[in-house]
Amino acid sequence: MTATPSPTPDRTPGTQAAPRAGKRVLLAAPRGYCAGVDRAVIAVEKALEQYGAPVYVRHEIVHNKYVVKTLEKKGAIFVEQTDEVPEGSIVMFSAHGVAPTVHEEAAARGLATIDATCPLVTKVHREAVRYANEDYDILLIGHEGHEEVIGTSGEAPDHITLVDGPDDVANVEVRDEKKVVWLSQTTLSVDETMETVDALKTKFPGLVSPPSDDICYATQNRQTAVKQMGADADLVIVVGSKNSSNSVRLVEVAKGAGARDAHLVDEAAEIDPAWFDGVETVGVTSGASVPEVLVDGVLADLATRGYEDVEIVKAAEESITFSLPKELRRDLRAEAAALAAGTRAAG
Ligand code: SF4
Repeated sequence: MTATPSPTPDRTPGTQAAPRAGKRVLLAAPRGYCAGVDRAVIAVEKALEQYGAPVYVRHEIVHNKYVVKTLEKKGAIFVEQTDEVPEGSIVMFSAHGVAPTVHEEAAARGLATIDATCPLVTKVHREAVRYANEDYDILLIGHEGHEEVIGTSGEAPDHITLVDGPDDVANVEVRDEKKVVWLSQTTLSVDETMETVDALKTKFPGLVSPPSDDICYATQNRQTAVKQMGADADLVIVVGSKNSSNSVRLVEVAKGAGARDAHLVDEAAEIDPAWFDGVETVGVTSGASVPEVLVDGVLADLATRGYEDVEIVKAAEESITFSLPKELRRDLRAEAAALAAGTRAAG
């Protein structure tokens, strides 16, 4: 049997922990599911209940192995492209968003679509369209090949140039230096993105900034919490999948904040005993696509190694929620209305 970790009261945001002897865990808050991931996962579950299995999902609904496997068991089928979805079926688009051409392909195949793109990604798509309509060159800071970047770039392929970090800035060319704007992927490192922006501003002094942050609240809050614990931690364990951009960034942020060592694990089974040599304080956090059950597994594993004392390091409160995709809300409302009408008729 594993010992149950015992959380202690939260540390005041921004303060350093008093030096303490003995093994302990610093548990980041917030961590795990963000509003966009929560909405996308619930959307697949509701779609399965509403329409029955299978429901096809283009790409992993969120970047987490456990979530994908759990939804597969319930009847979701994950595909890479819409042409793998049988004609007339339902296909859901993932939280990372898709290019307009993907909507067109789905329509051409007669597929019913549910768009689970996170509203904060949709916001970046709209900014891209608006600046492209005003004929700006758009410098999109993001990671090459990431689904979100592919989706956003597809909104204005003739106007968008990808900038993959500060080292990429030297290669960037624009048509008119007075008409350039930067946008970004939602899940980047805040600090590295600002480094890239600074380098771009040096090269293009007239560079316009987006009206509000593109890096989302969840990414920022999780990085802030890790920064607060990083300097105190000998080891930071980030729960998340390797293809999860925001999870990978948390490992980098932990190391940047002073953690001696930091690792990404999908689940407790991937924890390596060799990491604990001389380790007293272990920081734990999780990416925005990670269900809490996986963090519980890591805490239980740490408790068996003597790290039972858990202190919460709280960086922010989160209360944001997003409503389900509109196509699903429409069908759920229609079904509720039909049921109500049936009940009235029967009464
Ligand atoms: S990480 Fe941010 S942008 Fe991505 S799904 Fe979550 S809230 Fe939306």
